[in-house]
Amino acid sequence: MNAAQDVRPGAAHCVLVINTGSSSIKYQLLEPDSADVRASGQVSRIGEPVGDDTVTIEHHGAHGTSEHRGAIPDHGTGLRLAFELFARDGTDLVTAGLRAVGHRVVHGGEIFYRPTVITDAVVATIDELSTLAPLHNPPNVAGIRYARALLPDVPQVAVFDTAFFHGLPDAAKTYAIDAHIAAAHGIRRYGFHGTSHEYVSGRVAEVLGRDPAALRQIVLHLGNGASASAIRGGRAVDTSMGLTPLEGLVMGTRSGDIDPGIIAHLARTADMDVEASYEMLNRNSGLEGLAGVNDFRALQAAIEAGDRRARLAYDVYVHRLRRYIGAYLIELGGADAITFTAGVGENSPALRADALRGLESFGIAVDSLRNTAKSRAARLISPEGAAVSVLVVPTDEELAIARAAAVLVG
Ligand code: AMP
Repeated sequence: MNAAQDVRPGAAHCVLVINTGSSSIKYQLLEPDSADVRASGQVSRIGEPVGDDTVTIEHHGAHGTSEHRGAIPDHGTGLRLAFELFARDGTDLVTAGLRAVGHRVVHGGEIFYRPTVITDAVVATIDELSTLAPLHNPPNVAGIRYARALLPDVPQVAVFDTAFFHGLPDAAKTYAIDAHIAAAHGIRRYGFHGTSHEYVSGRVAEVLGRDPAALRQIVLHLGNGASASAIRGGRAVDTSMGLTPLEGLVMGTRSGDIDPGIIAHLARTADMDVEASYEMLNRNSGLEGLAGVNDFRALQAAIEAGDRRARLAYDVYVHRLRRYIGAYLIELGGADAITFTAGVGENSPALRADALRGLESFGIAVDSLRNTAKSRAARLISPEGAAVSVLVVPTDEELAIARAAAVLVG
């Protein structure tokens, strides 16, 4: 995000939101009531060998952008150096009077289904849930541990990506596999990106001026990771991600849905063990696997240049997306709103038009002028009077996390 302009100094009553990934920490300092962003930044390439000149922290504060260059050996060092950039910019986070620290945590399992104040026991449980999210929960735990050490007097809150989908109906959350094995190992569909789906569907009701309880919604979160959800009356009734964030739509580097038989086939015929397949499905599939680029803009540029692999990747992406839209229309018995969000959903008019092409008989259409108008606002892109409202709503997971944390700590 670009918060370099217009940031006001001071951190009293603010929430520091921390999103720790395997090799990165994204953070934002914001005032939850006004949504004022006071500072933001990103630590990148944690644990990677980089040159002394490589920018590894970029911090946007009240006085502009500052940087740290050189290797960041671990998450603890990354967070400490980011705190130093805050201090150099005039904000000492330790004495600033922060209201809370809000942590994005990917997997809450069956246990956590609402924002939770972090205690030692909560950290231990999130750590135990790493068996369900081996790529995500361990860095989340690291971020929490280091933030608690740096800010021991500030309440810390975990906000779970799975929480919004905790109440999925049994038929939507159950895999048709051996029920004893599923029960013994916590295997069910959990769903992810929940903070985004919840925030965006709430904004849709505001934009439409409708009671959320009366709306049937389909939300399409299309970023590097991508997921779709079906929401009735403000509650999620289905979502495309499952036990892990691998299921569902085609993503930047993730396959989304596949025949699980592929894993057995590769083990038998290609000498690829489970870990090798899992790595391929997570890191070298999706757009990357099909076209050699994971970035949607790069994919579109390759299509423009006549690259046929890129064209196929785009077609597979759109085909999968339409399949989910169709399924959710049936599950909901029709939709009042279909909403695009996240990097691709917010920024690619072409993708939005292709995703909903030819659906006029369902009352679904995209107005080409509205769709291509340059705007960062939440907005309607369906024609006036259309039966189904089609919207673009910028997601804001940081704001949602900050507000959830602020409400919880009072
Ligand atoms: P996110 O994970 O939400 O940050 O989304 C990242 C994805 O959004 C990347 O694949 C970007 O290429 C894509 N994206 C960002 N801006 C645009 C744009 N103007 N047109 C198409 N895709 C975009």
